[in-house]
Amino acid sequence: MTAEANSNPRIAIVGAGLGGLACARTLQKHHRAVTVFERKRSADVRSPSGTFSVQPGMGQDALRATGLLDSTALARPDGREVRMFGSDAMLLHRLPPVGGRTGAPDMDCDRLRQLLLDALTEGTVLWGTSVDRVVPLPDGTSRVHFDDRTTEDFDLVIGADGAWSSTRRALSEAVPAYLGRTFVETYINDPEARHHGVVHLIGSGSMVAMAGGKAMMARRLSNGRVRLRAAFRAPEDWHIGLDLSDAGVVLARLVEMYDGWDERLLDLLRVNNGGFVNRPLYALPVHMWAHVPGVTLLGDAAHLMPSFDIGANSALLDGADLAEALVTEGGVDEAVRAYEDAMSVRWAANAELATSRF
Ligand SMILES: Cc1cc2nc3c(=O)[nH]c(=O)nc-3n(C[C@H](O)[C@H](O)[C@H](O)COP(=O)(O)OP(=O)(O)OC[C@H]3O[C@@H](n4cnc5c(N)ncnc54)[C@H](O)[C@@H]3O)c2cc1C
Repeated sequence: MTAEANSNPRIAIVGAGLGGLACARTLQKHHRAVTVFERKRSADVRSPSGTFSVQPGMGQDALRATGLLDSTALARPDGREVRMFGSDAMLLHRLPPVGGRTGAPDMDCDRLRQLLLDALTEGTVLWGTSVDRVVPLPDGTSRVHFDDRTTEDFDLVIGADGAWSSTRRALSEAVPAYLGRTFVETYINDPEARHHGVVHLIGSGSMVAMAGGKAMMARRLSNGRVRLRAAFRAPEDWHIGLDLSDAGVVLARLVEMYDGWDERLLDLLRVNNGGFVNRPLYALPVHMWAHVPGVTLLGDAAHLMPSFDIGANSALLDGADLAEALVTEGGVDEAVRAYEDAMSVRWAANAELATSRF
């Protein structure tokens, strides 16, 4: 039976990230059936994301659509104080806390993911199920090929499988390109920060120190942790010959790279929690794919951008918008077209904003 003739179409979502889960939850809120395929083995596997500001008109609208906006007990409305420093650790500017219901409270990506997961019917997410590719079929449906060589057909497959999406290949040849900038990430526990006297740099929200094409950014998460990122322009293979698993070696290289920066800022790196992670930044070119019945994309799979806040907010909004289109438009294909039209306009605007911040 085709989707158009079917009032309860078979819908699959590839990827249980923020976008995929927002979509699944909104569909279920409207009593629509959906299956989510996720290659992680369980909900306990943490995502690489840290925290983000849930923006009005974006993430907040999406959470309203999921029916979970009131669960903002998980958010930190006072988490948005921003302190800006030069490389000499002199305070240049301080933005006082804003936030609250009318602002953009901070929320940890993993906690929001758990909130969405808890709101789904048990068994919605099939953990440890990796999708190899999605093939659109002539009748307007799509076939999911799993890594274990089995297949399953759906009226609609939604690729919410992130930056390196397998689903994307059904629609586009675009691949993310390295942007020439890398983050090296580590964590600090609050007591350590207090002990080493760097806590006054971080304040109650976040701090950034910038000079000479380099930055150091710290942001408070929940559970008393601070995430620290050293950001710099470099070739993608900047770490050749460096054992990234050896925290001492990476620290020594970073201290060398930030030579001349005030010792108090270098101390932020030194109080790290025992490891650094290399995070090269990538983005997709802004180019909307030609519509293909039976398959679409959302979130980073559709429009990977060099701004994490916008990425997480957009993924949530895409997921909720697509689900709402599917429950309000006449047929699946009509709904997907309406979603893709609106999303492509949003993508162009957000990409411009993300690039201006980059
Ligand atoms: C290193 C890193 C750090 C980040 N930090 C922040 C941050 O601090 N704040 C912020 O706002 N944003 C951050 N972001 C960006 C943010 O995570 C994304 O913009 C947002 O998560 C996009 O959500 P998504 O649902 O589109 O994709 P994702 O959250 O990437 O979810 C995709 C899901 O699909 C699954 N998947 C992938 N391939 C397959 C497959 N073949 N089969 C089955 N499942 C699959 C993945 O396991 C994953 O669970 C970060 C991103 C990265 C890469």
